Amino acid sequence: MPTSISQIRPRIDKHRALTNGQLSDLIDRDATCRGATAEDWFPAEPDTAALSKEDLAIARREYEVKARQACAGCPAETACLLLALRDENQYGVKAHGISGGHAPWERNRLRRTLRRHRVSLTATPSREAAS
Ligand code: SF4
Repeated sequence: MPTSISQIRPRIDKHRALTNGQLSDLIDRDATCRGATAEDWFPAEPDTAALSKEDLAIARREYEVKARQACAGCPAETACLLLALRDENQYGVKAHGISGGHAPWERNRLRRTLRRHRVSLTATPSREAAS
């Protein structure tokens, strides 16, 4: 199920003032995925060109469940998600892999939703204007 604006806004509000370095420090300190392999966090993404619409929807749902399960209970989940939302799709960096309990396409959708609701990802919104 997609993350709703009412779920995510208070989490972003609580972390917005933190710099990327501070978010990284929280992740380094609290992440439950330390020791996980690259395969755990970058599972093969459903092939949008090869799958039918129905099969793509099923494959994406499976990936999303995997992301939720992988990050369930991680104390650094909001820091991880916010850092990914700030960094991805900037400077040509494509959203990729599991971050903050979300699949890449979910983060892209969430970023658009946050923008539409004027929820800033940083304490200095001008940084986002370029993204
Ligand atoms: S939210 Fe997931 S990917 Fe991010 S630090 Fe926690 S366990 Fe790792």
